[in-house]
Amino acid sequence: MSDPLASARALLHSVFGFSAFRPGQEEIVRAVLDGEDVLTVMPTGSGKSLCYQLPAIARPGLTLVISPLIALMRDQVRALTAAGVVAGSLNSSNEPAENARVLSLLRSEELKLLYVAPERLSRPDMVETLADSNVTMMAIDEAHCVSQWGHDFRPEYLTLGNLARQIGGRLQTMALTATADGPTRGDIVDKLFAAPPRTFVRSFDRPNLRLAFTPKDRSSKQVLSFVREHAGDSGIVYCSSRRKVEELAETLKKEGVNALPYHAGLDKTVRDRNQDRFQQEDGVVMTATVAFGMGIDKPDVRFVCHADLPGNVEAYYQEIGRAGRDGLPADTLTLYGMGDMQLRRMQIEQGDSSDDRKRIERQRLNALLALAEAPRCRRQTLLAYFGEASATCGNCDLCMEGIERYDATVEAQKAMSAIVRTGERFGLEHLIAILTGDGTENVLKFNHDKLPTFGVGKDRKSAEWRSIFRQISAVGLIAQDMMEHGRWWVTDEGWKVLKGESRIELRKALAVAVTKGSRRDRRAAVASAIGSDADGALLDALKGLRSKLAKAQNVPAYVVFSDRTLVELATHRPASPAAMREIHGIGDAKLERYGTAFLDVVRQHKN
Ligand code: ADP
Ligand code: ZN
Repeated sequence: MSDPLASARALLHSVFGFSAFRPGQEEIVRAVLDGEDVLTVMPTGSGKSLCYQLPAIARPGLTLVISPLIALMRDQVRALTAAGVVAGSLNSSNEPAENARVLSLLRSEELKLLYVAPERLSRPDMVETLADSNVTMMAIDEAHCVSQWGHDFRPEYLTLGNLARQIGGRLQTMALTATADGPTRGDIVDKLFAAPPRTFVRSFDRPNLRLAFTPKDRSSKQVLSFVREHAGDSGIVYCSSRRKVEELAETLKKEGVNALPYHAGLDKTVRDRNQDRFQQEDGVVMTATVAFGMGIDKPDVRFVCHADLPGNVEAYYQEIGRAGRDGLPADTLTLYGMGDMQLRRMQIEQGDSSDDRKRIERQRLNALLALAEAPRCRRQTLLAYFGEASATCGNCDLCMEGIERYDATVEAQKAMSAIVRTGERFGLEHLIAILTGDGTENVLKFNHDKLPTFGVGKDRKSAEWRSIFRQISAVGLIAQDMMEHGRWWVTDEGWKVLKGESRIELRKALAVAVTKGSRRDRRAAVASAIGSDADGALLDALKGLRSKLAKAQNVPAYVVFSDRTLVELATHRPASPAAMREIHGIGDAKLERYGTAFLDVVRQHKN
């Protein structure tokens, strides 16, 4: 008998066109081929799907894949089909003919992978059909959906363990997720497995993502300048409200950006059309609420910008994780302001979750604020939150631009004295008006212009004071009471500083709208990341051909070839099918289908 892992490795090359496993994949594939139950916790974009796809193709029988989103299934099935694998999905949005095709492949035992939504799977006729088929494994994608602690609980997931038993007795089970925290992981093990599975946890680091946070100034200007640095690239701009989504899409469009809006309030046909265009065309910028993205499996998203503060640190990491799934450099920028923070706090306090749940939500939000105001490498701070120790990264704004700190004891004392002298009853803007000596209507009404604190902070702008408040709140000198109109009060720690018993260092205010490399530098960064000096004109011609083929087949461009494949083609300029076969991402099926067309373009570009 041949070594199953060796044949899996051969398929990695001949089906997917990949030259090697990514870190972690090989051990997982081996455990799956050995018949073990497996839980895989790996960050988005690290290549989880391959861990069940490869064993599914390598051995006889059918692998059932449970996925919560139809769009996600559709993409996966499309990509597998393009690679010559017999795969299908059963879901309510399929044409009846498609469902019939899949069922017939299922009956003839030709199907290797079947994607099903959990609610479909729980139908008795479906269970019966599958029990009569040659199902060898159930792979449960987005397994955190089983957990009520997770951010995306789906009750149907709770029945999956039971259904697996109905379909195949002790059916081999694999669960996959990108959500790392302890309570969620515990829930997955309890609810989906009869006995504890082999668990693989990969580092959460995504070194190709550049991390940056900037205080909000004029957010649409800041977003525009960030998007401009990425002209021609696909990207996502997340906003916290539907109205802002539409306004930003308009602003960007007026500035010549190929921007589209996406939020749950749009007509479904518009939403679907916009999502399809984002997936299929090059260089579309989606301005969206967080309703957008869960089902997005586009590997070449080059940037994610948060125009408003994300919901918490997990959500932040998930959302920026939609960039750079292909492993090439991708850029992220998060804008944050005091208003965002207050809003998030209020949403938590006024929500109707249990106290336990609220406590977890508060911690997750605080972790995000600490990241925004981090006094050291952001990646270090982020990974520390996920329980990983790491060195400074060199690829975040703080590593790249450094941070200047100063002794801010006096500033902190001024800010806290404004709080104390007004009886710990007021919100931020009022306190800042007092500090900067601004005689607003309210300041006069309360006689706060008579306080000794009035005007003691005139030497600084309001924006600087906002940053000081944010930072002393992030380090715990002051706290805010959300139940009482957001009034601020001074904590025990704060009193120590106020009384001069301890000192405090803060970061100098960050320059707004961090300037970064030009578009040319960025393209060069993508090329040099894979060690190439691709011919730009040839690359453009290859992209043109890719768009044409993708349009003709009505599939996203990356289903034809990934960016990386094109860059490698433009660098190595293969002259024969055999040479082309050595390029990343080109397996047998794609070589046969596209080889001649792309070889022609390469030949025509002889320099
Ligand atoms: P995840 O499910 O972990 O978010 P995916 O399975 O969608 O990630 O994989 C992300 C990208 O990485 C896909 O474009 C996939 O084709 C690619 N990929 C996966 N494994 C490899 C590999 N061994 N070599 C090169 N690319 C890979
Ligand atoms: Zn760093």
